[in-house]
Amino acid sequence: MSTKYIFVTGGVTSSLGKGIICASLGRLLVARGLKVTVQKLDPYINVDPGTMNPYEHGEVYVTDDGAETDLDLGHYERFLDIKTSQTNNVTTGRIYYDVIMKERQGAYLGKTVQVIPHITDEIQSHVLKLGQSGDYDVVIIEIGGTVGDIESLPYIEAVRQLRYNVGRANTLSIHLTLVPYLAAAGELKTKPTQHSVKTLSESGLQPDILVCRTEHTLDESIRGKVARFCNVEIEDVIESIDARSIYEVPLLMQQQKLDERVIEKLKLETKEPNLDNWIGFVEAVCNPSGAIQIALVGKYVEHHDSYKSIVEAFIHAGAVNDCKVQIKWVQSDNLTEKNVAKKLAGVSGVLVAPGFGGRGIEGKLSAVKYARTNGIPFFGICLGMQCAVIEYARNVCGWKDANSTEFDESSEYPIIDIMPDQKDIENMGGTMRLGKYACKIQKGTYAHAAYGSEMVDERHRHRYEVNNNLRYKLTENGMQLTGMNPERDLVEIVEIPDHPWFVGVQFHPELRSTVNNPQPLFVDFVKASLKFAKSNDGFTPKKESKVPVEK
Ligand code: GLN
Repeated sequence: MSTKYIFVTGGVTSSLGKGIICASLGRLLVARGLKVTVQKLDPYINVDPGTMNPYEHGEVYVTDDGAETDLDLGHYERFLDIKTSQTNNVTTGRIYYDVIMKERQGAYLGKTVQVIPHITDEIQSHVLKLGQSGDYDVVIIEIGGTVGDIESLPYIEAVRQLRYNVGRANTLSIHLTLVPYLAAAGELKTKPTQHSVKTLSESGLQPDILVCRTEHTLDESIRGKVARFCNVEIEDVIESIDARSIYEVPLLMQQQKLDERVIEKLKLETKEPNLDNWIGFVEAVCNPSGAIQIALVGKYVEHHDSYKSIVEAFIHAGAVNDCKVQIKWVQSDNLTEKNVAKKLAGVSGVLVAPGFGGRGIEGKLSAVKYARTNGIPFFGICLGMQCAVIEYARNVCGWKDANSTEFDESSEYPIIDIMPDQKDIENMGGTMRLGKYACKIQKGTYAHAAYGSEMVDERHRHRYEVNNNLRYKLTENGMQLTGMNPERDLVEIVEIPDHPWFVGVQFHPELRSTVNNPQPLFVDFVKASLKFAKSNDGFTPKKESKVPVEK
């Protein structure tokens, strides 16, 4: 069977949840036994989002192979339970970069290099890479941006050509639009959808299926109107109504028969889907027996997308523990030794978030100290783990001046530093330790209890490390280095044993948490927090807790 390509475009407005629709369709096809992956095409000119500020772009999602990618790849991994890679995310910047490199090498044999055919060909070759690997029955391609944007045009044109190059029968075009409800008129309005499909069709791409985001059910007359004006069959007008959780979307799409329409059109042979696990998970998310509060201490807390994978990992771990984790967003800039007890009142766990730069560090250190000295379960991720180490070095080991050289190059005790072998790479312009690295875990530790295994690997995105020349001071004073990278003898996990649960990790465990495989450290952190909550009046039983509707 040749690989099938499903192109998903968006119209009317951004933020309709194209990534969730792609991931949901992917989940439904995987549940039918197909091998599926999802690719994101981003129309911006940055080569990747690695250099973008979290306010601009949200979280940078890192893959096993160390690619810094769009956060939608996180949704694909969490929903489909697959691993993505650099190939799954292509930006306009990357396309132009590759074309310009080829031009410099003379690959175009003196021709004038143009958007059509050179840029559009390059886009096609990036799209075909996943299909040509032979690993997939279906590749879903999410085209970022909104139809009609200038920067999306070369992508739409590339897709138009590609549909002929791989054979029309092997491709499908799905368009996601909005059907808004006008309260004053008391009506759903189809005109924006009509216009959006018109714009798409003018570029030569007729959608086969329309997925319409809406806050109210689309009745037969609205569906009929959309079908008639947009040149699709009425069965191909799929309603995507607000869900209780993003994880309910695959089930709603199945009720709407999106998967059936897709397999029929692409003539895919599949088995009946098995979604029992998924249904159980959604029920656990939407009807937990109660709720606890966990503080997320970071400097981008007004912008929740900056911590997307952490938020999702808490949802997965909450479902395993039959409780909803309500995140208390705590701005580290405003946190001090004086106000920390007030700001963290009522929380049953403290997570100090990853990050870069010195802003908010002293606030993060107060949060660590508060959790450490009050026996509140603590989880430090990347910079959060480095803060746990600095706090311990200062307040337990007595090195008052301990710091990371990221914030203070003149610290007498640089307990967090760039390691000498890394310094050479730094001088050569290389930057971070990115992607998957191994970690060997000591038995009898919190980490070992969570993973149930001595060798694991997790993803990284950082420059600085626990300083190997100074780490003796931590262990002399009771902090344990419970996970180490065997190749370079680098500290991956630290713990405080005589504490209910105090774990810091140099890697990013949140990036590996999926619905089917919730991340073990998150599961145990939530478990410890739930225990703390139950004995400290921090557990709100179901009757009183309200699980808000996610839009
Ligand atoms: N800024 C720290 C470093 O580079 C931590 C990075 C992070 O939290 N991702 O090592």
